[in-house]
Amino acid sequence: MTAATHYRACHLCEAICGVAIAVEDGRITGIRGDVEDPFSKGHICPKALGLQDVHEDKDRLRRPLRREGSTWREVSWDEALDEAAGRLAEVQAEHGRNAVALYQGNPTVHNYGALLFGQLFAKVLRSRSLYSATSVDQLPHMLASLLMFGHQLLLPVPDVDRTDFFLVLGANPVVSNGSLMTAPGIEARLRKLKARGGRLVVVDPRRTETAALADLPLPIRPGTDALLLLALLQVIHEEALLTPGRLADFTDGLGVIADLVRPFTPELVAPAAGLAAGAIRGLARDFATAPRAVAYGRVGVSTQAFGALCAWLINVLNIVTGRLDTAGGAMFTRPAVDLLALAGRIGQRGHFDKGRSRVRGLPEFGGEWPVATLAEEIETPGTGQVRALITAAGNPVLSAPNGARLGRALAGLEFMVAIDIYLNETTRHAQLILPPSFGLEQDHYDVVFHTLAVRNTARYAPALFPRDGGARADWQILGGLAARLARRRGPKARLTCALLNRVGPRGVLRLLLRLGPRGLSLAELERSPHGVDLGPLEPCLPERLFTPEHRLRLAPQRLLDDVARLREGLAAVPPALQLIGRRELRSNNSWMHNSVRLTKGPERCTLQMHPDDATARGLSTGQPVRVRSRVGEIVAPLEVTSDMRPGVVCLPHGWGHRYDGVRLGVAQQRPGASANDLTDDAEVDRLCGTAVLNGVTVQVSGE
Ligand code: SF4
Repeated sequence: MTAATHYRACHLCEAICGVAIAVEDGRITGIRGDVEDPFSKGHICPKALGLQDVHEDKDRLRRPLRREGSTWREVSWDEALDEAAGRLAEVQAEHGRNAVALYQGNPTVHNYGALLFGQLFAKVLRSRSLYSATSVDQLPHMLASLLMFGHQLLLPVPDVDRTDFFLVLGANPVVSNGSLMTAPGIEARLRKLKARGGRLVVVDPRRTETAALADLPLPIRPGTDALLLLALLQVIHEEALLTPGRLADFTDGLGVIADLVRPFTPELVAPAAGLAAGAIRGLARDFATAPRAVAYGRVGVSTQAFGALCAWLINVLNIVTGRLDTAGGAMFTRPAVDLLALAGRIGQRGHFDKGRSRVRGLPEFGGEWPVATLAEEIETPGTGQVRALITAAGNPVLSAPNGARLGRALAGLEFMVAIDIYLNETTRHAQLILPPSFGLEQDHYDVVFHTLAVRNTARYAPALFPRDGGARADWQILGGLAARLARRRGPKARLTCALLNRVGPRGVLRLLLRLGPRGLSLAELERSPHGVDLGPLEPCLPERLFTPEHRLRLAPQRLLDDVARLREGLAAVPPALQLIGRRELRSNNSWMHNSVRLTKGPERCTLQMHPDDATARGLSTGQPVRVRSRVGEIVAPLEVTSDMRPGVVCLPHGWGHRYDGVRLGVAQQRPGASANDLTDDAEVDRLCGTAVLNGVTVQVSGE
């Protein structure tokens, strides 16, 4: 018998917790937190145990599948890759390059091989029809960074371990362990904040697990966070609480902001936000006068009609109070692999609105279109119509707005190939599925989440298991497709593919580490299986700014202009019921519901509703209710709870495993309902095209 413990970072979510996986004779016998990980210090959540379920899942695909009528047949890798590349090339030859679209899902960013080779594949594809999970929920934050700091990836991270006042808007880090804020074990970090006399304020229409810890929960009306932020800024200006400090030396637009916020008094915005003016005033004073403070917002603020304004105003609040780039405030990382610096050096800082989408005229961001436009781009005839699609680690039928419409659109494609480990609600529409090996069969380094972490660390792990005979990693699939397409391109594309396929992601990582600010070698990381600590976040401005003049741009014109739209909506009568999303600790977006360990226990896909709203409709806990929106309807069991703000109902996302032809035996036994059968692809933040996933108008009645 051989027994060993393997150490690596969990690749399931942004928290990158260290895990210790016990293995005997090639089988996992236990998973626990790695107490020697200098960052996560032994913390894991229940999802880590799901790693074993996915690894051993009999439904997980191991060989390429070709759809033949209503059945699937295994084919060889060469056959599958040749056919996929050939069909994609045919569609491009007949209808133009943009007729083939690429959608990359969230797990791509947790897999450095998929991330690097996804870029390569997109380059060789030469299509402008690019989509990703970025536009599902985080684009507004990236847009604010691009317009203010000059780089779409220069995202400020709350220095939660040193702050005295943590203002959280539309985020539930106790469940997420941070999002655009890698903070494993955040609940313990928040308890330490409170133990040292600090304060936690949570702005959310639901009393979330994080709000339950807060000194002050503020149950705001969905979609009005930008108004609240303007009012906080108004008080700070009116009461002369402005303290930008050294930031003033390299910040442009302080005066513009002072003029902008003047009319937005707490008394003006309080009725729309559903908060007391006195509470807003008190919050502004407390935030501005706390020794160390930081404001942070996430999905709840970025997936609403004014998401870009919210992301911008959170940065403005941190800057005018001197909280940016200072200990306990919003800081920037110096990761061992510094993708920003490398990209910045070659002029790749991101861009916005360099083109408009063909059908609806929504702006591009970073070379991608909002995912809310994908269905219409497939359905609408004309030059540039999307006729073929590659999905990589994505299930947009469940994760994108108006997913049911998108599913119908996918059924009408001429060709679709999916790189995915499951036959799911999206991949069932493909003609070919190319399943990569699961994460435990691949080496791991987080090139993205070390960049968003509340502390500088680095961690590399080799593959735990050898790839199951003949299996291929994501990068090999993407590299194989790219190489085949490159044969039809010029010598430069062929050479690039040949070179990268030869060195592989590990070779690229070795180089990226050497070029990084820490000068680490891969060998050093391999000798440190628990990871290495690179210290707390440190001030780095103005040097780290990517604006040409190395100055902070506090008042970009595109954002200023959008405030008029916000103001117009001030007098609008809110709908009787608005739907918001919910993140569950035992659920990982749409793709881990085939884990028995994670899905057992009470039903989690419930519609939560305040008792007053339930009584008014004659509804009670446990009964199935019908929820309708402009685009669709679902049925879900009701959970009456005073955790909800009256007038707001809440449903988790990622469920809805109800389609025929899906091969997810466990998930289909408890399918749940898809929140994205209710979200509306026509309802977007008009500035940036991100869909409104929070604040959807719905009606609820007994089934
Ligand atoms: S919080 Fe859970 S899912 Fe996320 S990295 Fe940690 S153990 Fe994995």
